[in-house]
Amino acid sequence: MPNTAPAPAPVDSASVRRHNLALVLRHIAAHGPSSRSRIAAAVGLVPASVTGLVADLAARGLVQEEVGGPGGGRGRPSRPVRLVPERVLAITVQITLEQLRAQVTDLAGTVVTRATTPHRVPHGDPEALARAVAAVVRDAETDARSVPGALLSRVVVAMAGPVTSDASHTVMAATDFGWRAPVDLGALIAAELPALDCPLEVINDANAAALAEYQALAADRTHPPRGLAYLKADTGVGGGLVVDGRIQDGSHGVAIEPGHLPLALDGPPCACGARGCLAVFAGPEPLLTAAGLADTLRTQGKDAALAALDRALHADDPAAHRALRGAGEAVGAAVLGMVTLLDVEEIVLGGYFADWYRWLAPAIDTRLAGRRALAAPWMPRLTPGVLGDTATLRGAAALARESTLNDPSTVPPL
Ligand SMILES: [Zn+2]
Repeated sequence: MPNTAPAPAPVDSASVRRHNLALVLRHIAAHGPSSRSRIAAAVGLVPASVTGLVADLAARGLVQEEVGGPGGGRGRPSRPVRLVPERVLAITVQITLEQLRAQVTDLAGTVVTRATTPHRVPHGDPEALARAVAAVVRDAETDARSVPGALLSRVVVAMAGPVTSDASHTVMAATDFGWRAPVDLGALIAAELPALDCPLEVINDANAAALAEYQALAADRTHPPRGLAYLKADTGVGGGLVVDGRIQDGSHGVAIEPGHLPLALDGPPCACGARGCLAVFAGPEPLLTAAGLADTLRTQGKDAALAALDRALHADDPAAHRALRGAGEAVGAAVLGMVTLLDVEEIVLGGYFADWYRWLAPAIDTRLAGRRALAAPWMPRLTPGVLGDTATLRGAAALARESTLNDPSTVPPL
């Protein structure tokens, strides 16, 4: 998982330069058009250095002087400098069980194009999925290449399932897709895209969503949480942890998989090989079955069945409400597990846990009540996510953007 925070302090002159370029570009990206003197004061560099760094960034097409701004005239230019977001584009793809959602985004995070493509990839066929993803990336690449002067910096593919943080970005397992063994999905997709000339990486979808929800909170609050844990369910159950703006995913990148938190020692068997995991109580199949929608699931697929459950909940169907109460018990136990293991200030629920929060909340609250009585000052705030099903692609785009902001020297001069 790439860093989402500035690189550590540099040691040699080339890395000092890269670091300072990143400082200046980050400032302009975060604060909008800025004069060189203001940038110098904000980032702690002398104005002459900032002038040189801005010239370097301008040569790479990443910034330009504001047209019609104040200043100009003889001597040193002093017009405010602004980001040129369309100079660097990234392609992000979210793989769900039934769809491939793709976006092209720029350096400001603005969506340039988006497309949703249904897929009928058979269970247990990673090669077929890689071919389908590659086709979507090729279409997005055509869109990106049509933007004049744009550099395609990165392709980020978000996949349901734990993904290692080493260079291979191996998907350890994807039980919802019938993958029971590790799959180097990045290599499979790259093999289908021999002409692609930028890095391609695969990330865990829930980690990306966790980052996006963290950033949304940080933008909205005077005192954003230092640590945020995320727990979501859509076509599967997953989660993530973000501390100080960075995704935390363990020694191998595969930590924080709350779908497989064991909740019941002798519970039903789970596809992961264990028993009684959160997923077997609050995942889509058990929830739909408990709500009497097993037939809909079998004949129409998960998305249609989940939409039917949504309608049943809003129509006050007793079986649907009972199913949500049961899931709420399990989610409450999982949240308590996360509280016990992770000292975070906020736990955000995503996917249908957010959509159906009001039906889950009573059972969750009951489960947390005892601990709250004991440790109220340290109990995290529990909130439904605000980004809905856009969270994963937003997070993936943020990671792609960070890779350029962390090292603007990866963008060649125009
Ligand atoms: Zn499991």
